[in-house]
Amino acid sequence: MEINCLACARDGGCFEATAIDDVVILRISGSVGAGGMNKTPDVSIIQKALNDISAEDGGAAAAPLKVDGIAGTLTRSAITRYQQKNVTIIDGRVDPNGPTIRAMNESLGGGGVDIVAAGSGAGVAKGGKSPFQPLDPKVVTKIVGLLAKIRVVIRAANFQLDLASPFIGTKKIVKPTGPFQAPARLALNLLDAVFDLGKLSNPSPSFHNIRTAYKNMDVALNRSFETDPLIAPILFVPNKFVVMETKAAAYTSAGGAFLSSKARLKKLGVPADRIYLCNNLLNESEIHQVSVAVHELAHFVSGRPFLIDDQVKTGRMLNSASKPSFDALKPEQKIRSAEHYAFFAVLAGFRRLD
Ligand SMILES: [Zn+2]
Repeated sequence: MEINCLACARDGGCFEATAIDDVVILRISGSVGAGGMNKTPDVSIIQKALNDISAEDGGAAAAPLKVDGIAGTLTRSAITRYQQKNVTIIDGRVDPNGPTIRAMNESLGGGGVDIVAAGSGAGVAKGGKSPFQPLDPKVVTKIVGLLAKIRVVIRAANFQLDLASPFIGTKKIVKPTGPFQAPARLALNLLDAVFDLGKLSNPSPSFHNIRTAYKNMDVALNRSFETDPLIAPILFVPNKFVVMETKAAAYTSAGGAFLSSKARLKKLGVPADRIYLCNNLLNESEIHQVSVAVHELAHFVSGRPFLIDDQVKTGRMLNSASKPSFDALKPEQKIRSAEHYAFFAVLAGFRRLD
């Protein structure tokens, strides 16, 4: 299965990749290296893998091995060198289900997908420089702190939709009058201001789609409750690719919420069922960080036939320069625009953030 991956850069330079569901995991049938069975195909697999791993990560990328299927001195010492950097038992051998092959799968970006694929620029940089950036603890702390705020705005959005719900039917919206209906009026005004719902002669299907999207966002966020957020913010994770820092503030795969945990982002090789936040987001205001996260969440919970993408292709984040293009969208486009979902949630939850 193939779907598009959307990454949203502030400057509007959008990065497109593809998620793949069938993952190639590094696998060997017998042990390779010192005292191993050393079957030719297995040795070749390990030699190629070592070549794909940067020297910094213990691989042989800087001085590639000849992929000849023969476990000679060079191959064996490359295995030992890799082990010294990545595992505790240094025996010069890679076993089919051992710690070394598991570590190699991780070094290769999770699933052994060829991350050096052409075009993405995500491969090993010229001069053998690692394509990975060290994990910045500040980003992890930021993500954990951000999660609470994201939940606040998503709940606030859902609350506003609950208030509006009794007044949405298959005919043009009639706003209720009277002091007791003030909250519902405000909710309907908010829906109008962001999604133009008041312009529709039958707002019901659009409202249903908006509601489903935010409910799914709430469900997606609950995934993070299952694990200790300090150890594993499993939905939002830090970006590890240097190149993505220049391309995006965050990236994810459209419909990632519905993909199997084995699906990977093509060319990047990382799980497609996550939202990746870039370090550059640290420099932004908190409102902007929350907004970017909700924008990605909207992509993440959307899927065919209801795809939420970037309806505005140039300047895909809402700012004073791009505002006219966002305003010009038709109501049916607005309910498919990730940035509009971010805007609605931030407006709904703004007062609750401090
Ligand atoms: Zn986007």
